[in-house]
Amino acid sequence: MDGFKQFCKAGIAKGLFQGRLLNPCKQGRLYTGSGVILQYHSVSHPRSSYHYLNPGLSVTPEDFERQIAFVTRYFRVVSLDQLLANAKDQEICETLFAITFDDGYRDNYIHAFPILRKYDVPATFYLTTECIDGGLFLWTSELRYLILKSPKFRMHLSSLSEEFALDTVPNRMKSLEKIKGRLGTMSRREREDVLSEVCHETGVRDMTPLKATMLNWDDVRTMCRAGMSFGSHTLSHPSLPHIPLDEAKKEIIESRESLSARLGKEISHFSYPNPGNHLNFSTELKQILKNAGYRSATTSMQGYVSHGYDPFELKRKGIYRAYSNLPDFYFLIKKEAILQRLNSFVGTKWLKSSQRTRCT
Ligand SMILES: [Zn+2]
Repeated sequence: MDGFKQFCKAGIAKGLFQGRLLNPCKQGRLYTGSGVILQYHSVSHPRSSYHYLNPGLSVTPEDFERQIAFVTRYFRVVSLDQLLANAKDQEICETLFAITFDDGYRDNYIHAFPILRKYDVPATFYLTTECIDGGLFLWTSELRYLILKSPKFRMHLSSLSEEFALDTVPNRMKSLEKIKGRLGTMSRREREDVLSEVCHETGVRDMTPLKATMLNWDDVRTMCRAGMSFGSHTLSHPSLPHIPLDEAKKEIIESRESLSARLGKEISHFSYPNPGNHLNFSTELKQILKNAGYRSATTSMQGYVSHGYDPFELKRKGIYRAYSNLPDFYFLIKKEAILQRLNSFVGTKWLKSSQRTRCT
């Protein structure tokens, strides 16, 4: 049944797009709130990023360029600051777009940055600052690399009291997701202890291919001079609601200070990391962010920015490989609006929209 629904949705998307029944030029008023924040992670070819990132979370440079060309042709792409300022204005009828990137992968600089410059559009990059400082890999990339490269067929982790199968690629992927889910709810100390054990048990010693997978400060400064903006994605990419509050505070405050010192600018924007896809924000965290001087925080929830929005609980549209071609990309952007319109015709909630996006 799910396959049939997917088939129908894909058919609707292609029909609407190709048949121009919902011409993008005339879609400004089809309800999408006052703003759409696009959420990217990686712009890369699957073969080159497979060792540090789930290929489903990236888009190819070619697809990224097609998407940027599309949004710049039919909509107005602005900075996150401008989108949030305009969304406060009740009178605004136009839907603005802002582009964001999570994590701080170096492929953002290599592949996405030249395209953003070509189309003269700004973007906000949320950085995991300890990875930019050098020496540390993003822990989700490290875990992925260790599991994928291990010569072993099974692995017992005493820290998790569990054995994991590594005999086939699907089993490695299942083990990876399971361990990532558990690490995603641990304090930094616990997570690092488990990672050390994974490193020992997998028998992987050469981590060289993981070097230079994250941006460095020279890249960041070059992009900053070209008009790109930067926000914090914490120091080390934990799931903030699952770690002690003091630790969460340190991740939030010190990452902002580090960015501010390196770039000589005030840092106003934050993105909640979402390793393991748990709920990744809370009322207490929002208060800590406000007290620390941030003005906004983006989540991994699907949706638009509308008048009366909560600046510390911003919804986005996660763009992944599954939405590579333009009809699917366009359908994702207008999904809630199109489904609402179609549901009003057929008088049912048969066409539902999922609420959560994926994340590293
Ligand atoms: Zn992230």
